[in-house]
Amino acid sequence: MSRICHIDGREVGDRESCPVCVARLNANVDVATMSQEAKAVELEQWMGPLEVPFDLLHKRIEELAGRPVWTHELGSPALIAAEIRGGEAIPFSEVLAKLPADKAVVVLHD
Ligand SMILES: [Zn+2]
Repeated sequence: MSRICHIDGREVGDRESCPVCVARLNANVDVATMSQEAKAVELEQWMGPLEVPFDLLHKRIEELAGRPVWTHELGSPALIAAEIRGGEAIPFSEVLAKLPADKAVVVLHD
C-alpha cells in the first residue's frame, strides 16, 4: 500500500514518513532568516496528515512560533499562525490560559 504526500505529491509507503518532507525538516532553515509571513505559511503547510515524525515537526513548529508549543495547541494551527503573523510570541500566561481549567499543568523551570 502507498499514499500520496499532501505537501509535495510524492508517493510514499502507507506507514512511512515522506522522505522529501523529512529532508526539508532536517535542512532546518534558520527561522531568523525568514519573514513572519514565511514562518506562518510554513506552519500552515505542515498541517494536515502527518508526513514526518511528530517529534521533528513539533520541534520545527516551536522554532517557527518562537516559543514552546503545547501539543493541544496543534489542534488550532490557525491561532499559532495568526500569532506568528502578529510578530511576537504570546506570553507564557496566555499559553496557560488556553488550557482547559480542569487539566493539570507541570511547569519545569531552570
Ligand atoms: Zn512530502
